[in-house]
Amino acid sequence: MENDIVSGKKVVTRFAPSPTGYLHSGSYRTGLFSCIFALQNAGKFILRIEDTDKERSKKEYEENILESLEWLGLKYDAFYRQSERTEVYKKYIHRLIETGHAYISKETPVTDEGSHSKKNTDATLRAEVIRFRNPKKKVVFNDLIRGNVEFDTTELGDFVIAKSVDEAIFHLVVIVDDIEMGITHIIRGEDHISNTPRQILIYEALGITPPIYAHIPLLLGKDRSKLSKRKGAVPVTEYRRRGFLPQAVVNYLALLGWHPTDDREIFSFDELVKNFDLARVQKGGAIFDEEKLCWYNRQYILKLTDKEFLELASPFMPEWLSSSSDISKRLPHVLKEKITCFADISNLLGVSGELGFIKSLPDFKSEMLLWKKDPNAKESKIHLEKSLEIIETIDEKTFTADVTKVALWSYAETAGKGNVLWPLRVALTGQERSPDPFVSAFLIGREESIKRLKNAITKLS
Ligand code: GLU
Repeated sequence: MENDIVSGKKVVTRFAPSPTGYLHSGSYRTGLFSCIFALQNAGKFILRIEDTDKERSKKEYEENILESLEWLGLKYDAFYRQSERTEVYKKYIHRLIETGHAYISKETPVTDEGSHSKKNTDATLRAEVIRFRNPKKKVVFNDLIRGNVEFDTTELGDFVIAKSVDEAIFHLVVIVDDIEMGITHIIRGEDHISNTPRQILIYEALGITPPIYAHIPLLLGKDRSKLSKRKGAVPVTEYRRRGFLPQAVVNYLALLGWHPTDDREIFSFDELVKNFDLARVQKGGAIFDEEKLCWYNRQYILKLTDKEFLELASPFMPEWLSSSSDISKRLPHVLKEKITCFADISNLLGVSGELGFIKSLPDFKSEMLLWKKDPNAKESKIHLEKSLEIIETIDEKTFTADVTKVALWSYAETAGKGNVLWPLRVALTGQERSPDPFVSAFLIGREESIKRLKNAITKLS
């Protein structure tokens, strides 16, 4: 890194996802590290859609990649799609053939196993492919994370670099693009480390110095198995659907495999750019723990102002609740403490949810109003009447949970907290479980609280 800066070469990184599946966390994190590294070095960050595999690449996946990056705020300076660059690859194929580093192979090819195998499928036999003439040597490169990596390429045989002059495949397109786009640092998943020796051989054949590599550890599931598009990895957009905050997802993923020098856990994107250190990325796989992601999301939700909260929560609010209603305005205060992600809101406010009573008072039996430890209907009614009297003295404008609590507290202490507060809470909510009576009263408002208390008093008459 320093050498580049000293030599004045501008740092250029890239994120090169294949649109063969939805973008998952591990893949996104690769892009995040590449982007942060470019920003740290006042460099450039490129997004390149690697869609040369025509069978597996889908537009839908490309759209998902773009949507995910936008949601998670990953901005790129340039965008390319490999399927639009056939002409560029062609030039390189010709150059490799002309210099004797590649050849068109029509016969039974030397397989990747390095022998003339009878096991070749018909397809391979029929194919007229372009193979790279492997010099079969030891390749050594210095990986920023893994240190010196040595590889004997003999075993790789003369590997295929194109299906035809018009159809270059993976190893070739990657390096051609990295060369043409001036990539200085390749930050990519460790699953690509075994591709690096082949790619370095092609660089050498072209007489071009390879970029600097950093192979980052993969994300593992809790059982330490590898998370991949095909197994266990949740698409990033699924977190969007569930109402996670992008800042929380970014923050969590940045700390998977990278540790700051202290135990700090909360970083904004700008703070990540200031603090992230590629050299401190660990070698071992990093475990993706959704519970920890939930913890991050809660931290970020708690930091939202009520206004921000309401705006973000509005797509998740039930239809009966108009966003301009008084109830909506009171909700952030309570919901912020209760939810992990915005999708939790519909359960909480649903008929059987803890806050279901807000929409309408459930039908409940009068016995529920009696405190189990002292079930006395006559006394409960007196306590409800007294609570009603106190609540009626509170002004509409100052009707908050705190004010109601202060107003009722000394009576509750004198008459017995359970005896007063249990019937009060049930009168307001009609539920076995709900927030305390002060918060419940605050949520439904003064007028509705008075109405519900009168209803409960009638029930006990
Ligand atoms: N297209 C490859 C992938 O999606 C990445 C190739 C690279 O980073 O060199 O895994």
